[in-house]
Amino acid sequence: MPLTSPQHLVLAGGGHSHALVLLHWCMHPQRRPAGWITLVNRQSSTLYSGMIPGLIAGHYKRSEIAIDLRRLCDRAGVSLVIAEITGVDVSQQQLQLRDRPALSFSQLSINVGGGTQPGPLLAIKPLEPALETLDAAQGPASPPFQLLGSGLAAMEVAMALRQRWPKRRLQVLHRPETVPSRLLSSLSQLKIDVLPSTTLNPSGPGLRCTGSQAPEWLSSSGLPCCPDSGRVRTQSSLQVLGHPTIFAAGDCAVIDNQPRPPSGVWAVRAAATLAHNLRAASEGDRLRQWRPQRRALQLLGGVNPEGCPQAWALWGGIQIGPHPWIWRWKQRIDRQFMERFDQAPAMESKAMDCRGCAAKLPAAPLEAALEAAGLKSLGTAPEDAASLGKDWLQSVDGFPALISDPWLNGRLTALHASSDLWACGTSVASAMAVITLPKTAAALQQELLSQTLSGLRSGFEPQGAQLIGGHTLEARSEAPTPLSLGLQVSLSVNGKRPARPWTKGGLRAGDQLLLSRPLGTGVLFAAAMAGAAQPEDLDHALAQMGTSQHPIVEQLQTLICLEPEALLSCTDVTGFGLLGHLGEMLQASHHQLQVVLDASAIPALPGALKLLKAQHASSLAPANRRSWSLLDPTKDHPAKVILARAGSGVTSEDDQALLELLVDPQTCGPLLLGCSESMANALLQANDTAWHHIGVVQSMQD
Ligand SMILES: Cc1cc2nc3c(=O)[nH]c(=O)nc-3n(C[C@H](O)[C@H](O)[C@H](O)COP(=O)(O)OP(=O)(O)OC[C@H]3O[C@@H](n4cnc5c(N)ncnc54)[C@H](O)[C@@H]3O)c2cc1C
Repeated sequence: MPLTSPQHLVLAGGGHSHALVLLHWCMHPQRRPAGWITLVNRQSSTLYSGMIPGLIAGHYKRSEIAIDLRRLCDRAGVSLVIAEITGVDVSQQQLQLRDRPALSFSQLSINVGGGTQPGPLLAIKPLEPALETLDAAQGPASPPFQLLGSGLAAMEVAMALRQRWPKRRLQVLHRPETVPSRLLSSLSQLKIDVLPSTTLNPSGPGLRCTGSQAPEWLSSSGLPCCPDSGRVRTQSSLQVLGHPTIFAAGDCAVIDNQPRPPSGVWAVRAAATLAHNLRAASEGDRLRQWRPQRRALQLLGGVNPEGCPQAWALWGGIQIGPHPWIWRWKQRIDRQFMERFDQAPAMESKAMDCRGCAAKLPAAPLEAALEAAGLKSLGTAPEDAASLGKDWLQSVDGFPALISDPWLNGRLTALHASSDLWACGTSVASAMAVITLPKTAAALQQELLSQTLSGLRSGFEPQGAQLIGGHTLEARSEAPTPLSLGLQVSLSVNGKRPARPWTKGGLRAGDQLLLSRPLGTGVLFAAAMAGAAQPEDLDHALAQMGTSQHPIVEQLQTLICLEPEALLSCTDVTGFGLLGHLGEMLQASHHQLQVVLDASAIPALPGALKLLKAQHASSLAPANRRSWSLLDPTKDHPAKVILARAGSGVTSEDDQALLELLVDPQTCGPLLLGCSESMANALLQANDTAWHHIGVVQSMQD
């Protein structure tokens, strides 16, 4: 059923206009439309167009020109969904996404940019594959690199490539009549061949820079689009013609009576009107009409034959330069544009307590409470799942929403809860859910619930598990911003009891310790709340967390059929961190065992160690540090865990970061197992192995 009111504003695409609208809401939270707001983009950062040629030339690193959409969303109180948009169902008011359910909206704003017009060679847009191709392109002796296009983008990319590759043969292939002659002579001075487009070698290396084309799904969704460019036609209020609840801006859109060429300049300038009108429309106020200037100043970067950067200033038919000071001026404008995003303040109400599995109670109060309640054995001999009669195993898990995407949050909770059964050697057969929803309007609760349930199904169904029931609750506390962070999912999971479940207590001297994936989710998400984690590191962590470990459990089950005694002990690393859960295994196993961990083999997610060195940590880490005592010998006993460090090159800072990694709480963390040497070899030598060999178990007497 389409959402009407209350408001779910969906921002489709994180282009320049939407990035600036988000920044506007960070700076002026009172101007943010009420209700739930979600941004959908295919990555968690977007590149600032003005600095792209500088990136290609090598003047900037990627991180210097990337706008961190995840951080902007966090600070503006907006949910972030990383997904590929495939269409709009206008009648149902739904944004369609690849490989996941559509998102219902009451208001939609589209800023997805454009691609390059079809033709030979790889397209310059989308940018990411083009940039990867440039990174992989070979040296000066390779065949000429071709740039097909007659516009300023082709000229600018050619000059940027000359700075990147001073010696490689470069060719611009263009329609002769379309390029200003002074620019063409500058290309010739840089030893860039300027040839007619008819001489193109379609199988040679190169990029197509032939003008912008809006995504095809806009017109196939029934939105009114220009027949040639595919751009969505809007009024000067930026409302799509005939669709007052849908707005569009940037390269994918064009104002019907005031067309402007696709360019970052216009996408940037549309942002103020868009921010105003999204709010006005949601409140039934009068919309502002945007009257863009007839033309905009363009600063075109280049290089002189001596390799010194320079730039042109273009205003309509007037051309000034090239000159190095115009380049410096351009650089200053571009850097100031990017600095604005670093100054975005966080929302005042933002709680800084960690979420996901880091929201668990520390071990000490948990054990004390269990003892006081007469349930001490649950604290001292905990298994990952409990026996339910002789045929079934059962477990329960859940946490307050880790991320603002309700579908992915549901999927992660399902995978996290499943890992308790995976650690016992079985998969989930059925699950029940208790889902607490934020206190808000029923239509929004319905959308949050259906996204969450779809996410749960996506985690359960591939392992043959059914969601067989549950309950919903409405929170009694104030709803957070964004609303989706008010979700709380708890799951009970059941699985067939294997003939011989793996336990925490099955470690034996001689077992090899294997870990199924790197550590570091706790610190990455803690640092994200402080705006300190890199967007690509969070994307990497989320991709790992969203990957089911069910296939590797099946791999283990297959190997066990060949060698039944090979694996007796396994657990999943969650809230107490690797060391805490390893300590549980040692406590439950034979008391005279000791583990030797290879410090250099403990795998960390990208960015995790750097953040730990910068003193970031999950809010559960301080309590988890009590497991460091496992590393200390007592006067009667040697240490239970020995951390074997590589001889040279390890600083005390590295050492401290590793110790912190060992107690970092994990959501959707790795499986940790102790197995025979032959099984360890089989696992480590398998194609695309996920496993890391991190240590061995030995007898204390060894
Ligand atoms: C080499 C080159 C140099 C340029 N230099 C300049 C310049 O100096 N100055 C200038 O003004 N312009 C320049 N441009 C043009 C400029 O890049 C575009 O005009 C500008 O980026 C358009 O901005 P936008 O906000 O419309 O969309 P974009 O900046 O293209 O952003 C769109 C966002 O939507 C996301 N997205 C797209 N499709 C989907 C989907 N299906 N699902 C999910 N997410 C999606 C993308 O990942 C991206 O993050 C240059 C272009 C090129 C190719």
